[in-house]
Amino acid sequence: MYCRNCGNNVEENAFACTKCGCRPIDGKNFCNNCGKETQDKQVICINCGVSLISRPSRKKIAAGLLGILLGCFGVHKFYLGYTTQGVIMLLISILSIFVLAAIPAIIGLIEGILYLTMDDIEFETTYITGHKPWF
Ligand SMILES: [Zn+2]
Ligand SMILES: [Zn+2]
Repeated sequence: MYCRNCGNNVEENAFACTKCGCRPIDGKNFCNNCGKETQDKQVICINCGVSLISRPSRKKIAAGLLGILLGCFGVHKFYLGYTTQGVIMLLISILSIFVLAAIPAIIGLIEGILYLTMDDIEFETTYITGHKPWF
């Protein structure tokens, strides 16, 4: 396989690239599979068609579980960098002394399930690079 950072040909499942010292799966400059140059926002390699997003998306699973378990505090929103939405959910719960906590809890539950059932690529493009605020 190839180092995603510098394009060096490295051993399969190598922990670090021997040329640049980075984790070979971490970069955004070259395709892991064919070594062709890639752009920052590219999600698949246009040369060989392989997915450029490391699987499984741990962010997706973590955000999904946080949404389901701690949705009423908006924790999954903070986790994904949606501070405004997180604060809104948190305030609904706290200002209503948890009377209305079911509302953000249900939103969190729905969003959590949505994240977990979503394809990794779709999740990354919608919430990580796309910054879609709700659902
Ligand atoms: Zn490298
Ligand atoms: Zn490729």
